[in-house]
Amino acid sequence: MVGFESVTKTYPGRVTALDHTDLVICYGELVCVVGHSGSGKSTMLHLMGALDRPSSGRVTVAGYAIDQLTDREVSALRAQYIGFVFQQFHLAVGVPVLDTVADGLLYAGVPLKERRRRAEEALVRVGLAHRLDHLPHQLSGGERQRAAVARAVVGEPALLLADEPTGNLDSASGAAVLQLLHDLHAAGTTVVVITHDREMAHAFDRRVELRDGRIVGDASAPRTAPQEFPR
Ligand code: ADP
Ligand code: MG
Repeated sequence: MVGFESVTKTYPGRVTALDHTDLVICYGELVCVVGHSGSGKSTMLHLMGALDRPSSGRVTVAGYAIDQLTDREVSALRAQYIGFVFQQFHLAVGVPVLDTVADGLLYAGVPLKERRRRAEEALVRVGLAHRLDHLPHQLSGGERQRAAVARAVVGEPALLLADEPTGNLDSASGAAVLQLLHDLHAAGTTVVVITHDREMAHAFDRRVELRDGRIVGDASAPRTAPQEFPR
């Protein structure tokens, strides 16, 4: 699903956010990326999501080498394969939840009626069937993040990327969002989640640990019964 070959990312000011990283994430994996603030986690996720290009090295997503694609092709790749969830929910102010989620299908060329039908389906999936007409400010933090997850998955992306999705949530809402990500993984989506919360990291099959832009650990938990989270 994702391949990094000696990927380096430097920002202006000569900050090396990622330093010659190699990584392979297979289809269907559930991975968390852990590390302190500033260790390069968000940079890594942005590169996985083709939101940015590396300074050197090669990033491959769904078999496509990003450096071989035009910006237009990269946008198409994102629209077809990738869903994002951020720590800040990024829901449009004053727009009903159903429409916000339906807009996630705009670039897929889906007609309005079908967009709304699929948006409703996605909102039902995240437990917000009773909140379709609500505005973002009428939702709790946990509900907003679930709406953001619905928007990310409405196009049924093969790859779901989440950058500290529970960072702004109380522990019960955070657990519900985490459960949702696990459910999506169980349904076949490849999921990569960033966290700086070590507690949370232990619920994942595979933990990639970053420090100062380098991968310093990559541990797979033994395959046991699926993890359960309190709902
Ligand atoms: P994390 O998500 O683990 O906190 P980031 O990937 O956001 O880490 O940042 C890694 C390093 O790169 C940090 O030192 C950060 O200050 C720097 N950095 C991130 N984005 C930019 C940017 N757009 N311009 C300059 N420096 C950046
Ligand atoms: Mg970050």
